[in-house]
Amino acid sequence: MSGFIKIRCRKCGTEMIVFSHASRNIRCPKDNELVVQSTGGKINIVNADIIQTYG
Ligand SMILES: [Zn+2]
Repeated sequence: MSGFIKIRCRKCGTEMIVFSHASRNIRCPKDNELVVQSTGGKINIVNADIIQTYG
């Protein structure tokens, strides 16, 4: 099941929406902290908390 996930950076609190199966790593736009690790399948969320999931 794929969809979008709202996450919040643990370091600075910035919220962002990411795709559950993103194909690349995602960094926080504010402090460049790695928040999503791409796995080739469902993403691995690191240094961030899940706020909400969609779909
Ligand atoms: Zn951040």
